[in-house]
Amino acid sequence: MSEKPILLWFRQDLRLSDNPALAAAVETGAPVLPVYVLDDETPGRWAPGGASRWWLHHSLSELSNRLTKRGSALHLVRSRDAAETIRALATETDAAAVYWNRCYEPFAVERDTKLKQTLQAADIGAESFNAALLFEPWEVKTKSGTPPKVFSPYWRALRALGDPAAPEPAPDEIRGSSAPSKSDSLDDWRLLPTRPNWANGFHTDWKPGEDSAQARLDWFLENALENYKDGRNFPAKPCVSRLSPHLHFGEISPRQIWHRTIAFCHAEDRNPFSGSAEHFLKELVWREFSHSLLYHNPKLPEACLRPEFENFPWDRSDTTLQAWQHGRTGIPIVDAGMRELWQTGYMHNRVRMICASFLIKHLMVDWREGEAWFWDTLLDADLANNAASWQWVAGSGADAAPYFRIFNPVLQGEKFDPDGAYTRRWVPELADVPDRYLQKPWEAPGNPAPDYPTRIVDLAAGRDRALAAYKGLGDTDSERSAAWG
Ligand code: FAD
Repeated sequence: MSEKPILLWFRQDLRLSDNPALAAAVETGAPVLPVYVLDDETPGRWAPGGASRWWLHHSLSELSNRLTKRGSALHLVRSRDAAETIRALATETDAAAVYWNRCYEPFAVERDTKLKQTLQAADIGAESFNAALLFEPWEVKTKSGTPPKVFSPYWRALRALGDPAAPEPAPDEIRGSSAPSKSDSLDDWRLLPTRPNWANGFHTDWKPGEDSAQARLDWFLENALENYKDGRNFPAKPCVSRLSPHLHFGEISPRQIWHRTIAFCHAEDRNPFSGSAEHFLKELVWREFSHSLLYHNPKLPEACLRPEFENFPWDRSDTTLQAWQHGRTGIPIVDAGMRELWQTGYMHNRVRMICASFLIKHLMVDWREGEAWFWDTLLDADLANNAASWQWVAGSGADAAPYFRIFNPVLQGEKFDPDGAYTRRWVPELADVPDRYLQKPWEAPGNPAPDYPTRIVDLAAGRDRALAAYKGLGDTDSERSAAWG
């Protein structure tokens, strides 16, 4: 049995179960030194936003407790150069190898590739594993061997690979290894906001950590899966899983979700590949698809995949953007979504689409402004999902909703929040507005919501302005125009 330790580099895999790098490290029989490097000031990366930092603090604290219970300890280091820190630690501890689970952000791919070469040149082993996806982005291919650019062929190609590998349980014990220097204290990293503590409300809705990720999945399967397909569009209904921040930080793996969902359906004598269950699994695969798009298009977060959109005449007014950010546009469903986001770090998917469409189309603000705001305020902020979704709504992405498909926020609000429960919850100024005017209070007689902002855009005029600007780009896609009429 080797006494040289294995350095285990935790990143977006903050869990002990179904963690292949950890399992492989324990399997060697060597002592294991688990390390987390906070590299939030590294140039060239999307530094975690305010909401993500809150989650990260609590998630690391949970992980650290779990490791301690198994005889290990999480070593914390803050550094502008994570790869160099890992290399130096590996040298100082005379490590046999460094193990980690792969990340797919372009900066991480580049960093990790270089690190592997550096370690191997120094005769230190380096092994990476897949913990974040059902399948690697390079494994899911069309028949001609290229990555699918559209979701349906992506789903078919993924299904053709069969079920992903079964998840592994957490190791019972982890042989500890001492670090060469003192660990940073998590509190000293000041990841939590203080003055003001705008994250105060997050504790009501969220509990980061592996245990609560598993508990949330249990809750979802038992209580919501059955109605997911239709219910997932109604923001007032508890029909979605809210697993996204847990997934982003790797507190639960997509393989665990996949296999648990299938086992749950079989136990209930239901087919997991039909109805609500299949719909849920498909959403999980949208996450895979977004990661594939990012992996194969490293500029996805910054540049329009359809280059003609770079010439779009975006409106650069700060006041417009700020009204949207603060939920003061005067369009009820949009303001409800933006306020939910600010207060809870989450926004329901249907409302994300409405708010994003409104920003890009009715307000003609560059999708990258919205992407940046979501990045800072979402607890589930994820480079792949966020960038792919914003480009999807903008119409500038690969498998995108065409630009000229413009959501009408009044009709969307009336359809998906029919009794107004969601809108009134987040926009209390509208409490006394009768249902029929709730989504268009400017038409209500007698001004029943005097404290609510006047709408910043006339919806019909905003829509016409956006369509005219879109036409000005030239014949971007005549086939799509014909299909959508
Ligand atoms: P559920 O409906 O329960 O779905 C289960 C899981 O599937 C989710 O946790 C998520 O991991 C995945 N998923 C669901 N929908 C999508 C989707 N459209 N694209 C990719 N994966 C999906 N999701 C993020 O995780 N991070 C982001 O930063 C993010 N930004 C978005 C920005 C915009 C403009 C839009 C329209 C969507 C964005 N999404 C993002 C996708 C989606 O809104 C969230 O994943 C979902 O609302 C999370 O809630 P849930 O866990 O209850 O989802």
